[in-house]
Amino acid sequence: MSSIRIALVGLGKIARAQHVPALAADEGFELVAAASPNQRLDGVPNFPSIEALLAGLPLLDAVAICTPPQVRYDIARLALEHGKHVLLEKPPGATLNEVHSLVELAERRRVALFATWHSRAAAAVEPTRRLLAERRLAGVAVTWKEDVRVWHPGQEWIWKAGGLGVFDPGINALSLLTLVLPGPLILRDARLAFPSNCEAPIAGSLEMQCNGKPVHMEMDFRQPGPPSWDINIATAEGPIRLSKGGAVLQVGHDAPVEAPDREYAKLYETFGNLVWARRIEVDCAPLRLVADAFLCGRRTIVEPFLP
Ligand code: NAP
Repeated sequence: MSSIRIALVGLGKIARAQHVPALAADEGFELVAAASPNQRLDGVPNFPSIEALLAGLPLLDAVAICTPPQVRYDIARLALEHGKHVLLEKPPGATLNEVHSLVELAERRRVALFATWHSRAAAAVEPTRRLLAERRLAGVAVTWKEDVRVWHPGQEWIWKAGGLGVFDPGINALSLLTLVLPGPLILRDARLAFPSNCEAPIAGSLEMQCNGKPVHMEMDFRQPGPPSWDINIATAEGPIRLSKGGAVLQVGHDAPVEAPDREYAKLYETFGNLVWARRIEVDCAPLRLVADAFLCGRRTIVEPFLP
């Protein structure tokens, strides 16, 4: 194959906003089809399901799965069983066992499997990781707050079991922490606020530790106005601030440094390399912390959210 013939599965907000333009700009890929129950993409054959896609386009090389997490496993399993390379939007599954089973299947079929964490591809993340490798960590405070009505309009799946609620954005912060901090993150305590008519939390706070130092995280889906996606890191050598979801780095009192957004371009560069090498890149560390919070977190019930 000269370029990788790929189909998008799930044509919602992220598929249209990021995957379609990233694929159009990447000569290593050819977007040849889309599969979504109700949506259609202009210019390519459209299918209502993964089953119809696999039957209708047997020469397909790869799929990018951009559905809600609750249906991701069955779609990925079928694609891998048909020998397709698979890119998973975050989170890689609704459960850890789903992801484990996909890794085993990809190994058996000798195809690429890539569990993406788009925030890790943000411009300021790798410089932050390198800085922290040379400093003495003192503590971390994370604020991850946004208005769910603005960022997730009409996405009912987010409030259902397996939809993660406020962890849908919060897992992005965990994907950054688990990459840039100089040791494993251990959950010590969690408080999760569930609206009385929802199956997933609307807010939460996590107490974690990294190398014995405190890592505190506050999440809230009810913040009006601009979002706060900020990580403040105290080190013996001075503060570091990683903000705008990983896009901006401020070291001490220096001016903040921001570079253009190339998150999805980088994800597809990586996926292309994985496909040609038939390799697997799956890191479940962020999802493990979410699972730990659901396992050990204390639950409070707050006012209803959905009508
Ligand atoms: P969304 O707007 O609700 O879109 C999800 C799409 O999945 C819907 O268009 C739906 O298709 C489709 N779908 C549902 N079940 C399907 C199935 N069985 N087979 C094929 N397609 C199916 O959600 P989103 O915001 O794009 O998020 C999707 C995933 O990407 C989530 O895991 C999210 O965490 C992640 N993500 C989102 C963002 C963001 O900013 N929105 C950023 C990064 C990652 P129909 O409309 O055709 O029924």
